[in-house]
Amino acid sequence: MHTAPAPLVDRLGRVHTDLRVSLTDRCNLRCTYCMPAEGLDWLPRAELLTDAEVVRLVRIAVRRLGIASVRLTGGEPLLRRGLPALVGELTGLGVELSLTTNGIGLARMAGALAAAGLRRVNVSLDTLRRDRYQEITRRDRIADVLAGLAAARAAGLAPVKINTVPVRGVNDDELLDLVEFAAEHGYRLRFIESMPLDAQGAWDRSSMITADELLAVLGTRHRLIPVPRGPLGAGRGTPPAEEFRIAGTDTVLGVIASVTRPFCGTCDRVRLTADGQLRNCLFATEESDLRALLRGGAEDAEIERAWRRTIARKGPGHAIDSADFVRPARPMSAIGG
Ligand code: SAM
Ligand code: SF4
Repeated sequence: MHTAPAPLVDRLGRVHTDLRVSLTDRCNLRCTYCMPAEGLDWLPRAELLTDAEVVRLVRIAVRRLGIASVRLTGGEPLLRRGLPALVGELTGLGVELSLTTNGIGLARMAGALAAAGLRRVNVSLDTLRRDRYQEITRRDRIADVLAGLAAARAAGLAPVKINTVPVRGVNDDELLDLVEFAAEHGYRLRFIESMPLDAQGAWDRSSMITADELLAVLGTRHRLIPVPRGPLGAGRGTPPAEEFRIAGTDTVLGVIASVTRPFCGTCDRVRLTADGQLRNCLFATEESDLRALLRGGAEDAEIERAWRRTIARKGPGHAIDSADFVRPARPMSAIGG
């Protein structure tokens, strides 16, 4: 008989039940707010966790630490070879599995991923215009993304969410069009405030569209009714998105205001990088080397203790919006967004 694992709790009493696993730091796009045109120095293959190592760490997380949901991300997770098989092994651990992707290749893979047990996908899309998509991502691939979205919906990966990063002077004239597009196709749109996590260090606060600004723009056309938050509100756990329903419709929108309305006080997330480093925060400046433990022959109990120690050291919050904010050494694409 199984006993429930002791919760993965930090000094502030926050219980961690959500794990983000980056499967690769590589990407087939070069989004301007994420990485430079030439890409980055990708991690050498030998440094990446193997599928067996990922499965072992997730098993420890689920069986010993009470992790209930796992999101696969990157880099671009669809670039990981043999992804459906890995998804099948992870869902076999009894965990709720989702994926964040740029959507390229999803048209081909959505059916296999759903069949392997994947529950939901978030697809990143910042514009509906082909030329602008190419400017933002430096690749002419919007048709693949639109096909990927449709395939995800057809495969039952519902609700299919769209992640949009609004940037001043780039796509801020398309916010209402994106809302309309999502409503028409039954996708759930979430706007994410841009964060200082680009590899180039070029983030500039003035280019960020804040949640307040965004809501003001949406309010010019729609009446937005807040959806109650919390475990019994907008889905499972404590999602960072503040959600709103458009009055008179079933359409729900989300706003993730990481910068101007940080949700650190209810954070339930822990992150594992593609090279096996455990991070207690997207903005952490320290990591714990679980890969070294795995490859050094550590028992599960030892890995569990290292994991608990990492969470115990978690700070109260990131303070992005303050003058003394320190950027993490890794960019978002190498942490796992
Ligand atoms: N490649 C996948 C994708 O684009 O969905 C997964 C990784 S990507 C780093 C995860 C999410 O982070 C995407 O929705 C992307 O738009 C977002 N993102 C990337 N850089 C960001 C930044 N500087 N600020 C806010 N969000 C960012
Ligand atoms: Fe790639 Fe995602 Fe970064 Fe765009 S945001 S470059 S798709 S990792």
